[in-house]
Amino acid sequence: MTYPIVVYGHAVLRKVAVEIDRDYPDLNQVVDDLFETMYKSEGLGLAAPQIGKSIRIFVIDGAPIADEEPELANFKKAFINPHIIERTGDLQLMTEGCLSIPHLREEVNREGHIRITYYDENWEFHDEIYEGYKARIIQHEYDHLDGILFTDRVNPLRRRLLKSKLLAISKGRFEADYKTILPGQRIKSA
Ligand SMILES: [Zn+2]
Repeated sequence: MTYPIVVYGHAVLRKVAVEIDRDYPDLNQVVDDLFETMYKSEGLGLAAPQIGKSIRIFVIDGAPIADEEPELANFKKAFINPHIIERTGDLQLMTEGCLSIPHLREEVNREGHIRITYYDENWEFHDEIYEGYKARIIQHEYDHLDGILFTDRVNPLRRRLLKSKLLAISKGRFEADYKTILPGQRIKSA
């Protein structure tokens, strides 16, 4: 099933999500729902807090932009209980967006190289290194698990200019092609 996307200003996006056990109820269903919701809303990644679940899972599928970014072809993964254990390389400035912050795009600095450990949907453990665009998407989604949004990482001057835009978004003054949940609205459990 698909979920509505929780929008900027909602408390669940600011919570530090919790790790889950291998016997978390309907884990495979949660992973499937995250993918389905991500495809429906045309995102490249989606973290569980964005569907109102404060647990440490995110999914990524780079296929939609694989034509422009060939390295993202076949980059489809679920990351459960991930830990970024190394961030190295020069900071790179790149434009990001987020389904929880409709239509707002800003440049964000992030490290170009990460090492991450995680479990996949079959509870296989992985210890992997990513660079470039993949490292970028992973770091964005990983931040969601710690209650951090990409706008927090925009340079301070620029961030001040975003304040009114973010306020408008939190009040529902945006149009999105997918269903959303605004701050203060209750998240229906599946
Ligand atoms: Zn996001």
